[in-house]
Amino acid sequence: MKIGFIGLGNMGAPMAANLAKAGHEVYGYDTADISVEGVTSVSDVSKAATDMDAVITMLPNGSILENVYAEIVSLGKPGALYLDCSTVDMTSATAAHKKATDAKLLSIDAPVSGGIGGATAGTLTFMVGGSAEAFKQVTPLLDVMGQRIVHCGDGGAGQAAKICNNMLLGISMIGTCEAFALGEKLGLDKEKLFEVMSTSSGSCWSVNTYCPVPGVGPESPADNNYTPGFAAELMLKDLLLSQSAAEQVDASTPMGSKASDLYKQFVETEGLGKDFSAMLPKILASVRRK
Ligand code: NAD
Repeated sequence: MKIGFIGLGNMGAPMAANLAKAGHEVYGYDTADISVEGVTSVSDVSKAATDMDAVITMLPNGSILENVYAEIVSLGKPGALYLDCSTVDMTSATAAHKKATDAKLLSIDAPVSGGIGGATAGTLTFMVGGSAEAFKQVTPLLDVMGQRIVHCGDGGAGQAAKICNNMLLGISMIGTCEAFALGEKLGLDKEKLFEVMSTSSGSCWSVNTYCPVPGVGPESPADNNYTPGFAAELMLKDLLLSQSAAEQVDASTPMGSKASDLYKQFVETEGLGKDFSAMLPKILASVRRK
């Protein structure tokens, strides 16, 4: 396929490289001067959209996505796939879908989980929103970039699933940190606590796979001085998206709201540029103080 790829950052660059490696003809555009192996750089966003079978966006936020879509939907040939993999707010996702479907394009939102490692290895999880026809057409491309693909529903459903998943992740990481901090104050050995929680009803991804305690469990950012991984500011972004989505549908999510407040405070003080599991030292310090 002839593919335009817009947004060649930490995630977009390896995803575009994997598509090129799989034999697709990929044209990449980024406002920053970024070159990607196997991808032809183009100097203007219109060149990444004109005459393409598919256009993929991997951008920082919803307002940028909407601005880019305003420039490119009129350039797509009828039936072309417009695939947005960015994590954005529900309002922008819905607006982007409308713009694309009004222009007779096949529109899909497919935010990802799996981070830069998953993008590089081609093992991302895609949460997909779009029509059955769009899903069928896009699956071969998603297969190149990812390992798990879940069709969550119509346009916007992928973003909704991503927002719910990451709200739970933020809450579960804070809960994991609190449990380890309380365990320490109660005099428990952290290895023993890990052994119990990772095999009991407290087990979850934050405990079992991404344990925030250095030297405990499988290797994680905690073992590398909390170098991201998944940065605290990206966790905050996703938690804030969850809160604006909740507000939009008048849903009460007190745990999501508390997690957002705690991550906001963390990013504003010491967390910027650190992994989101670096919440542990902060929670340990506050538990020790009392
Ligand atoms: P990034 O900041 O590294 O990359 C974004 C890229 O978009 C940058 O290179 C930037 O120059 C480019 N850009 C900005 N405005 C543009 C425009 N108008 N036209 C073309 N290019 C433009 O971010 P990232 O880490 O690659 O994340 C991309 C998206 O994926 C975000 O929505 C993020 O929330 C989501 N995400 C990131 C991760 C992660 O671990 N990094 C994991 C899952 C999802």
